[in-house]
Amino acid sequence: MFLSQLSPDVIQPVLDALPMPVFFKDRAGVYRGCNEAFTALLGRTPAEVVGKSVYDLSPLDLAQVYFEADEALMSAGENQRYESQVQTPSGERLDVIFYKTVLRDAQGQVNGLVGTILDITDRKRMERQLADMASRDALTGLLNRRAILSHLERLHDDRRQQRQPLCLLMCDVDHFKSINDRHGHAVGDEVLTQVAQLLRQHLRDGDRVGRIGGEEFLVVLDSTEPERLSQVGERLRQVVATHPVLPLDTTFSVTVSIGAARSLQADEDWASVVSRADQALYVTKRTGRDRVVMADSEPPRQLLHKDWHKQL
Ligand code: GH3
Ligand code: MG
Ligand code: MG
Repeated sequence: MFLSQLSPDVIQPVLDALPMPVFFKDRAGVYRGCNEAFTALLGRTPAEVVGKSVYDLSPLDLAQVYFEADEALMSAGENQRYESQVQTPSGERLDVIFYKTVLRDAQGQVNGLVGTILDITDRKRMERQLADMASRDALTGLLNRRAILSHLERLHDDRRQQRQPLCLLMCDVDHFKSINDRHGHAVGDEVLTQVAQLLRQHLRDGDRVGRIGGEEFLVVLDSTEPERLSQVGERLRQVVATHPVLPLDTTFSVTVSIGAARSLQADEDWASVVSRADQALYVTKRTGRDRVVMADSEPPRQLLHKDWHKQL
């Protein structure tokens, strides 16, 4: 039997048996019917739905999205699919996909729509978790190498447009191999985790820090000011040097050396800025460690031993 041959008192139980919310609206956007899954989702009775508009039933920001989508569908389309949200009675917002189709009268004129809702909250949550995991370093929880270099590349594009410089710090744990040799790899890992925490805790919200290599961290500052670059570098150095790292013995403190660089012209390549910070870091290693060295004010004639672009 075709659905059109079913009487309304048969159609309603059929709709109520469906697990997905279903609703009908007329050409003015007024609800004309729905199933139990829809009323359960909104925490309303059928009487509270029928005769109402989206503005009566949903928060204003969502109602506007629904209304505009309905108008676009009924004035031009046949079918529609879009991602949005639905607010439940507890105030929680679910991620959903709406599927809507126009309804027509006997003359073929659009006189309403029928819609259904697919809850994709779990899928969205999982996608966010996966994206987060893919950008994190498993040991320290900081951004991993790919994520911090991608951030740097994006920021560099923005700064280039605004003709503003990039500021960054390359931090490397001093004599880390000896820490491993003396205390074991597990303690080495713990030291890296603690240093990572300290760096993260002493940066501003807009700053980013990532683990770029074994015991090397790249800090990309939100600021464009040379004063802040040296201040933050010095603060991070001091914080690590003065923070007792357990379970190391008292004769073994952890320090970091830091190379700082700021792009010289707006068109300086980001890899060149990283390379100059790396060069400055190299200088700290030759001149005593536990120091901050600002990069030369001249760009390097050629990139150093690391080709940062290739390692993205
Ligand atoms: P410098 O002061 O010149 O930086 O000396 P260093 O000993 O810190 O530098 P070096 O590059 O000689 O040694 C780095 C060591 O870091 C070697 C490597 O085994 C160790 N390492 C790299 N990744 C990890 C890790 O994930 N965990 C641990 N525990 N050690 C690591
Ligand atoms: Mg190193
Ligand atoms: Mg080191």
